[in-house]
Amino acid sequence: MTRTFVFLALALAGAKLFGDVLTPAAPGDVKVLGRPGELFQSSLNHRVFSEYAQGPVYDEAENAFATHWDDSDGHIGWQGEYWGKTMLCYAGAIRYTRDAKLAAWCVKKAHHLIDTYQHPDGYLSTYANKDLLRSNPDSPDYESHWCFNLWGQKYTMWALVELYRVTGDKKCLKAAEKMMDHLISQMKRMNVTIDRTGFWAGISSMSILRPLIELYLEVPKPEYKALADYIVKVTDVREGEKPTANLIYDALSDRPIMSWFYKPMFLAKAYELQSFFEGVAAYHRLTGDARALEATKAFWGHVFREELNPMRGASYFDHFLNSKRRVNGMTELCDVTHWIRLNRELWKLTGETKYLDCIEEAFYNAFLAGVTPDGAWGAHIVRSHGTRHLTAPAQTGMTMHQCCPDNMLRTFYDWADTVADVAKDGAWEVNFYSDADIVLPGAKMELRGNYPVSEAFRLRVVAEKDGKLRLRVPYWADEMGVDGKALKPVAGKVELAVAAGEHTFDLVLKMPPRAIDSEAPDFEDIDTVTKLDTAPPEGFTKAFMCWYTPEMKGLVRRTAAAEIMRGPLVLAKGRLAGTSRDETFEFKTINKQPGWKLSLAPQKRTAKNFGVWGAWDLTLEKGEEKKTIPVADFWSVSCMDDPENWFSVWF
Ligand SMILES: [Zn+2]
Repeated sequence: MTRTFVFLALALAGAKLFGDVLTPAAPGDVKVLGRPGELFQSSLNHRVFSEYAQGPVYDEAENAFATHWDDSDGHIGWQGEYWGKTMLCYAGAIRYTRDAKLAAWCVKKAHHLIDTYQHPDGYLSTYANKDLLRSNPDSPDYESHWCFNLWGQKYTMWALVELYRVTGDKKCLKAAEKMMDHLISQMKRMNVTIDRTGFWAGISSMSILRPLIELYLEVPKPEYKALADYIVKVTDVREGEKPTANLIYDALSDRPIMSWFYKPMFLAKAYELQSFFEGVAAYHRLTGDARALEATKAFWGHVFREELNPMRGASYFDHFLNSKRRVNGMTELCDVTHWIRLNRELWKLTGETKYLDCIEEAFYNAFLAGVTPDGAWGAHIVRSHGTRHLTAPAQTGMTMHQCCPDNMLRTFYDWADTVADVAKDGAWEVNFYSDADIVLPGAKMELRGNYPVSEAFRLRVVAEKDGKLRLRVPYWADEMGVDGKALKPVAGKVELAVAAGEHTFDLVLKMPPRAIDSEAPDFEDIDTVTKLDTAPPEGFTKAFMCWYTPEMKGLVRRTAAAEIMRGPLVLAKGRLAGTSRDETFEFKTINKQPGWKLSLAPQKRTAKNFGVWGAWDLTLEKGEEKKTIPVADFWSVSCMDDPENWFSVWF
C-alpha cells in the first residue's frame, strides 16, 4: 500500500459525489487540536492503534462470524454490526492519519474475513440461518419481528465499500457487491420486500439505503438503484392506520414523530430513524429527487422542534418520545452520532449554518460528555443530571464492543471533516473554531485560542492567492469581532477579502450566559408507570434512571427547570466545578421566571486543580436576591464514570 494509492482512492471517491453546494476540507486536511483534539487522539490510540484494539477487540468482532451467536441458542442478536462499525472507524483513521501501515493491516484483515466467511453465493453474516430476515413474520405485532440479520450485513457491506475507497483494494469492493447481489436475489427467491424484514417496521433494514448508494456510486448496477428507488417509494405512501414505516410521508406531515407509530415505545427508535434519513439525503444527492431533500429537511425540523434534549443531542433514552419535554434528560450516544451525521448531510446539501449550529452544540456537550476521559470507551446513555452517565454495558453477548463506543470515532471524523470547506464561489469557509490546523486548496490556516472556553481566538491564514474568507457566526452571536471591528453576519457568516500572503485575524465571539426555559411539564408523574409496553413514555424515566447506576435512586427530577448556556456550551453545576451536592440538585428554579440577571466571571479554583475545561462563577440576581454558583462546561464536569461524582444542567 503506497501513500499515493490512498490519495488516488480519496480523489476518486470525492469526484463522484455531486449535489453538494460546498466541498469540505479533504479528510485528514483538518487536524483537531486543543482539548477536544487530545481526546480524539487518545481515542484513536486506544481504539485503532493499540495492540489491544488490533488484537482481542478486533478478534471478538470477527469471531461473531464463526460462533453465529446471533441466531444460536434462542438469541436474536446484533453482534453482526461490530465488524462493520469497527472497520468504518479504521477506514476513517486511514483517512485522518494517512497511515499506510494501518491501511495494509485493514486489507489483510478484510481479506481474511472474506476468504473465511463469505459464502460462494455472496452471503456474509453472523446469522447461521441466512433466510432469517424477520422473526415471527406472520405476527401483526411489529415488536415481535426482532431480527438484525440485515442490520449487521449493512455495516459489513458499508465497511467493505469504505475500505475499498481508502485503500483501493478491489477485493473489498467485490465482496460488498456480492453481498448486495445475494440480498437482492434472496428477497426475490423468498418473495419478500425489504420493508418486511428486520425489526422496527423495516426501518432498521431500510437504513441500508446510505451504504447501498455508496456501493452504487462504485458499482452502478441498475438493481441497486431499483432497490434504493423502492425504499424511498415504499416509505412515501399512506396506508391508513397500518403500522408500517411511512417515514417520508410522515416526515412531510405536521404530526410529531412519536405519533407516526402505533407503539412509539418500540418503534420510534432514534438511531434507526436518523440512519434512514441519512440515506434519504444521499438519495437526493444521487438522483436530484426534490421530495427526498424536502423530506429530510422536514424530518430534521421535527427532531429540532420535538426531540432536542438538554444535552443538545436528540432522543429520550433511545427513542423519539418528545424529548424536549423530558426533565430527566437521557440520550443514547449513537443518537448523538447520527444527529450530527444528519446535520452534516443537510449542511453539505444546503450550506445553511443552522445545521452547523446543531453539530457544534451536540459535539461539545452530549457527544464529548459521552466519551470516557481516556477516549477508550464511552457512555451508552448521557444524562442531564445525576452521578455519572450510563457507561456502555456489555451488550448482545459481546465483552469489548457496544453499539455506542463502536460509533464514537466516526463522530470525531465527522467533526474534523466539517471544520472548513470551499464554497461553490471558491471562498474559503471556516465553521468551527476549536484549535485546529487546516489545509484547503490555496490556503493553510491555524486556529488557536481555546474557543469556546475563550471568547477571543486567533486565525492565521497563509493564502497562495487572493481570495474570500467566510467565517460562521453562530446563531447566539449578533456579531463577530474581527481585528477590533464588530462585523454583522449575513446568512450566518461574515466575509473578508484576503490578499495572497500571510494574515492573522483576532476574532471575538461574545458569550453572555443565557437561560433557556424548559418545555417540560410542571410535574412529571412516573410513579403510576408499571409496564413499558403500555405506559406513557415517562416509563423510560422510571425504568432507566437507575439502570446500572443504583446510586441514582432519589435523583429523578419531577419538576421542570431552566438550562443556562454560554455560547455553544451547556453549563453545569457539579463536584468538579466546586458546587456542593445539595446546591447541584437544588429544586428551586429560575424556569419561566423573567427578570433574573445572569453574569459569569472566570473561576480560578478548578481549571488547573480539577482538570475542568471551562470553569466560571455564575451570579444570578433578581431584586434583592443574589447568589453565586460555581459552574463548568457540561462535558468535563460530567464525564467521570464515578458513583461519587455529581452534576446537573438544571437551574
Ligand atoms: Zn448505541
